[in-house]
Amino acid sequence: MGGTDQARGTTRSPNETDANDNGGGVTRNLPSDGLINLDHGDPTMYEAFWRKMGDKCTVVIKGYEHLSYFSTNKNPCWFLEPKLEDSIRSLHGAVGNAETDGYTIVVGTGSSQLLQAVLYALAPQDQPDPINVVSAAPFYSSYPETTNIVRSGVYKWAGDAHGFDKDEPYIEFVTSPNNPNGVIRGPVVNRDGGFVVYDLAYYWPQYTPITSSLDFDIMLFTASKCTGHAGSRIGWALVKDKEVAKKMITFVVASSIGVSKESQLRVAKILQVVADGCKRFGSSDGDNLFEYGRNVLAKRWEILRETVKNTQMFTLPKYPLQHCNYNGDLTQAHPAFAWIKCKDGMEECEKVFKGVKILVRSGRRFGSDPGYARVSMMGKDEEFNGLIERLSSVIQICNNDD
Ligand code: PMP
Repeated sequence: MGGTDQARGTTRSPNETDANDNGGGVTRNLPSDGLINLDHGDPTMYEAFWRKMGDKCTVVIKGYEHLSYFSTNKNPCWFLEPKLEDSIRSLHGAVGNAETDGYTIVVGTGSSQLLQAVLYALAPQDQPDPINVVSAAPFYSSYPETTNIVRSGVYKWAGDAHGFDKDEPYIEFVTSPNNPNGVIRGPVVNRDGGFVVYDLAYYWPQYTPITSSLDFDIMLFTASKCTGHAGSRIGWALVKDKEVAKKMITFVVASSIGVSKESQLRVAKILQVVADGCKRFGSSDGDNLFEYGRNVLAKRWEILRETVKNTQMFTLPKYPLQHCNYNGDLTQAHPAFAWIKCKDGMEECEKVFKGVKILVRSGRRFGSDPGYARVSMMGKDEEFNGLIERLSSVIQICNNDD
């Protein structure tokens, strides 16, 4: 899966971020001839919000503090900082997107590490064949690599869940809302002998209506997409079965002996500030992160839809209006990514964007059709504005051709 990157001599970083690309002509300030990189899902649109929050989230850690590997003896996840556990529980309670009572929280270095931990925890160790790992296409493009990178003898990537017709045990990743297309999803295999892991990275009110407080057996979340702090590398799992949680903890211990205390404490503070502000709507302080995120994304989606409306070039998915329990209003999704389909006959949607120096991710990478491409909506204003400007120029070129 990672073969194409290896062939190019680059290394794709885990959070879908082509870190190497930044040195290769991609510029942050967007000179008119510069590439705009909307291939990765880097959540830099949140920077403006956190800048406004000033010192509210400043955490000072003295040289003598937090030297120990250990954080708590009251929790099977002994490297989980109690402050982080408290703020995770209080944030889910305030938003109403997931239950936490009765769940063990396992912290990871990003939810990327927890994806691996959960595979280790669920895969039977005593079977002759590795368990199949599936997800419905279009699936999050990292799943195949995450699953196969260590060539585990106990689990293996088995592709699109829609095509999984073997009478064998399986683990299904259900991403909801889905990356890349923002759709709310459930499991598709639905057979005995299966485990379902819910990847809820985007189940937050800026992206989608919160229609219920979820209580699945295994639920994964990440600060990266909730607050924009991808660089802190903090993810968490809510796990119902204590034995599964313990095995996940064993994995995190074996791979990194816990998770950075500095990162945990920073994210603990941030999540608490978000939880405190998120019950205030329309406040002049502007300290509701979800309101900020939704406003930015709603505006961007409106502009993007307007830009493609009068052309036959692209189509965008439509999302239903739903009651959001968090906002208390009828709203539609404003996903973190635009899943764009080029018009029939244009086989490589990615290339259309490349033609105007915009890097996007081909549908092929998501187990889908190259007639689709995924475009990040979470970049900075100048990147989004550049996207709109250049899309308009594609439209003009194509219309003149007709
Ligand atoms: N799951 C999904 C669906 C994602 O989109 C991402 C980030 N792109 C992750 C997991 C991993 O997030 P992180 O490792 O930054 O926590």
